[in-house]
Amino acid sequence: MKCELCNGETIIKSGQTYHYVESGLDNVYLENIEVRVCQSCDAVAPRISCILDLHATIGQTLTAQTYPLTGAEACFLRKELGMKSKDWAAYLHIDKTALALWESGEQGLGLQADLLMRLLYLNLSSAQRGRALPTGSVEQLAAVVTQRTEGRSLFINPLQPPQYAYRAAA
Ligand SMILES: [Zn+2]
Repeated sequence: MKCELCNGETIIKSGQTYHYVESGLDNVYLENIEVRVCQSCDAVAPRISCILDLHATIGQTLTAQTYPLTGAEACFLRKELGMKSKDWAAYLHIDKTALALWESGEQGLGLQADLLMRLLYLNLSSAQRGRALPTGSVEQLAAVVTQRTEGRSLFINPLQPPQYAYRAAA
């Protein structure tokens, strides 16, 4: 396979950690995956076999995290549902402008909006995939705390079954 950017030759490296900025989140890393590295321009592209499962895992992890959602995380959940801003704002009973301020991080979500988004995400995504709500999800939601822990990153091993953990970035 050629490089998508410069059409150069590529090689595959396994066992790599990849900073998955394509998710729209700046703190998600894929662990122990194969990447394709361009020999000409050094561009690195991850090889992700089950992107739907990966994104579902990220979404579910976000809903279970014990600190408030950031704007980018809230935006990730909405996009995972395939929801337009207008429709999502209607679900949340807020103005589209307020939603944009939340998602850009210009304005904090507030705990009620945070919890509502998580519950809606869990319900709608489970319905979309024809699955029951993950066990313990409501209890996990109740554990949401108000203080965000800074400097934590989400590491995901996309191999089945998905494994993930929050820890400080190296
Ligand atoms: Zn290239």
